[in-house]
Amino acid sequence: MHKSVCFLILVFCFYVADAQENKIQKAIELGVYDGIKEPTKHEETEFYTPVPPVVNPVGQNGVPSDAIVLFDGTNLDAWENNDGSKPTWKINSEDKSTTIDRGPENKRANIKTKQKFGSVQLHVEWKAPEKIKGKGQSRGNSGVFLQERYEVQILDNNNNDVYVNGQVGSIYKQSIPLANASVPTGEWNTYDIIFHAPIYKGKKKIKAGTITVLHNGVLVQDHFIIKGATSYIGWPKDKPHGKASIKLQDHNSPVSFRNIWVRELD
Ligand code: MG
Repeated sequence: MHKSVCFLILVFCFYVADAQENKIQKAIELGVYDGIKEPTKHEETEFYTPVPPVVNPVGQNGVPSDAIVLFDGTNLDAWENNDGSKPTWKINSEDKSTTIDRGPENKRANIKTKQKFGSVQLHVEWKAPEKIKGKGQSRGNSGVFLQERYEVQILDNNNNDVYVNGQVGSIYKQSIPLANASVPTGEWNTYDIIFHAPIYKGKKKIKAGTITVLHNGVLVQDHFIIKGATSYIGWPKDKPHGKASIKLQDHNSPVSFRNIWVRELD
């Protein structure tokens, strides 16, 4: 047989095998096997693409190599006030943290990332003031707002009962946490948040947003389906929006933060 004919047959065989493999892979991904012959060889259910990227989990001074570092203790360059001005929060070089501070003008000092995000994995460490001041929602209150509207509550809840849908780890006034996993007041807590942003087409929501939260490694929100923006009064408001900032709340408590990083999921 002519060499070129052999080559074409070989290419065709590879193509057929590849198409069959793709079909089986797709069927398993979807969990739909109708009309596809069940594989009888182990190789038929072993796939080699897509190859996951390599991520060094501690590649950037202990932070995953593909993460965007939002605060590492040196500066707040990734952040701004609501009006676009520079944050007034204090930086504590000793423990590489920053503490909510209203500055000389004593203006409310929520800060938000300059960068807008969609779905993310977010790591935040926070600490309520060691010296207990106030009670209820006034004690060590802050919050991580995803896309500027969905609050994962931060609160010093140790010996401090509040309404449970507003306690630490709640999705404020929408979802009671599965546990209160706080460390003693004045010690560092971690939040690891997996947020899938809602998707809108025009005015219609075509995919709901979800939030999963690990508080000090303990699951406190398990793929909660967001109902709308978290609000203090009234129903959650579900209005279409696109990418938006991550916001940290100033609730008039000097809560501190450190080691904030994010991995984009879309
Ligand atoms: Mg709050």
